[in-house]
Amino acid sequence: MSEARMQRVRARMTEVGIDALLLSLGADLPWLTGYEAMPLERLTMLVLPADGDAVLVVPELEAPRVEDRPEFTVRPWTETDNAIDVVAALVGGRRRLAISDRAWATFLLRLQSKLPDAAWSPASAVTSPLRAVKDEEEVEALARASAAADRVSAQLQSGEVRFVGRTEAEVSAEIGRRLRAEGHSRVNFAIVGSGPNSASPHHEPGPRVIEPNEPVVCDFGGVLDGYCSDTTRTFWTGGSDPTPNFRDLYAVLFEAQRAAVDAAVVGTPCEDVDGVARGIITDGGYGVQFIHRTGHGIGIEEHEDPYLVRGNAEPLEPGHAFSIEPGIYFAGRWGARIEDIVVATAEGPRALNTAPHELAVVD
Ligand code: ZN
Ligand code: ZN
Ligand code: ZN
Repeated sequence: MSEARMQRVRARMTEVGIDALLLSLGADLPWLTGYEAMPLERLTMLVLPADGDAVLVVPELEAPRVEDRPEFTVRPWTETDNAIDVVAALVGGRRRLAISDRAWATFLLRLQSKLPDAAWSPASAVTSPLRAVKDEEEVEALARASAAADRVSAQLQSGEVRFVGRTEAEVSAEIGRRLRAEGHSRVNFAIVGSGPNSASPHHEPGPRVIEPNEPVVCDFGGVLDGYCSDTTRTFWTGGSDPTPNFRDLYAVLFEAQRAAVDAAVVGTPCEDVDGVARGIITDGGYGVQFIHRTGHGIGIEEHEDPYLVRGNAEPLEPGHAFSIEPGIYFAGRWGARIEDIVVATAEGPRALNTAPHELAVVD
């Protein structure tokens, strides 16, 4: 598996003119080697030459955590070694280098002064289009993560979780506990935005007590088997029925989200999927209130290529996995969002989140 990935990476390095890839912090390293670097002042770096053997330079005290794989050898460095010199020696005479987008500036700056005639590129120029296309195993991992998140959505929709009278922070913590109970090893976020806070897409759940007769946006996700979940459902707290203008807003959003999922067909430019959702929301009279892109790619990272946004003409490929998450927001008043993870396949768009999309009325 990772042998095949490494071959694809080497082929792409040759294609884009990179002599050596230097992977440190970020998702590229675990994607390729199964090992995730600790965010430490001690350098961890995979040196992967297009034409030579891959070597993982790792602090000696971290080496026991590296799982042996045939695709690379491990070069531990001791507390008195200079890790930058070790990396530079492995780079040798190669000069077209690509380094992890998330590598710390301190390491890049020291490498640059050690290798003054090197030309630097971001590793994403090599890895992004490869990572964006998920293989079967990755799609199934994403499907398991989404199914677990859907079980939490179902628990919220069924009324198992109390909203009214509790703070957003309490409901958020409960969503996190439930994600773990459903198999997530990590919770990345559990946004709970109630009343006016539902108009803030990345609201930080806080001390606000949830009231009757208001919308609540719940957007949550985490990691299961190394792959991310990310889903949003919007709720209305009971007492009385949703007001007619919120119902209208939600009907437009519902239609836009469904149509954008259906439009996510292989060969369609990413920006056209955004255009479908935006067109329906604009026709419904809420164009100005849809203040973000329609979606982002997802995999080992919550946000990665491809982005469904105007200006991205890249066509969808089989194996692309991304969110479809239009929203409508009236600042200071209320908002709503619906989000599913979808995979583009030769047979058409496959939605990994299938929890009901209707506005659920909860207590
Ligand atoms: Zn977001
Ligand atoms: Zn989300
Ligand atoms: Zn998302």
